[in-house]
Amino acid sequence: MHLLVAEDDTMLARSLCEVLRREAYTVDWVADGLAAQEFLGRGDIDILVLDLGLPALDGLALLRWARARGDTTPVLILTARDQIADRVAGLDAGADDYLVKPFDLHELLARLRVLGRRRSGRADPVIRHQGVQLDPVSRGVSFKDAPVVLTRREYALLLALLERPGRVWTREELARRLYAGGQEVHSNAIEVHVHALRRKLDPQLIQSARGVGYMVRGDA
Ligand code: CA
Repeated sequence: MHLLVAEDDTMLARSLCEVLRREAYTVDWVADGLAAQEFLGRGDIDILVLDLGLPALDGLALLRWARARGDTTPVLILTARDQIADRVAGLDAGADDYLVKPFDLHELLARLRVLGRRRSGRADPVIRHQGVQLDPVSRGVSFKDAPVVLTRREYALLLALLERPGRVWTREELARRLYAGGQEVHSNAIEVHVHALRRKLDPQLIQSARGVGYMVRGDA
């Protein structure tokens, strides 16, 4: 899952990004509203964590702009603005959630998982598909009840594919999901991860869509 953190407090942003990366999120960070706007415009973001008081373009203005152009990216506002009127304004501008600083990290992570579930249309916190079980809370994966050890990127790839069974992902889409902006991506990186997942799980789980990319079949 690819997160964009729009936050101009450098200390907070750095520590937040570090925690999120440890949770196997792909994370990009921007420190002003215009940079966030540019990022969102490219459409590679799964969840936006948005500060309201941002230089260049205020968080609320950015959010209204995004919603007006039909952008459905889940948005969690993370702000020091703690008045009820601020919360109402943020939610009514199109945010999916609102958390006030200082915040509890565990609560933030749980709320991000909620947004991830909603994005993929799930209610069950655990993903179960064709003998594979993936728990986003513990990041535990098992196949036919036997635990499977995955690297961070293998986990992120499996999560992407399992979130939307039946959807064909191009290699480029998967790479954007797994690698932050500016990170060098080896041309066969996705193939390598797919190969590893096929080896560790059911070899039939991930299907190749010839010349296009990969998918897991839609039937549960
Ligand atoms: Ca700020």
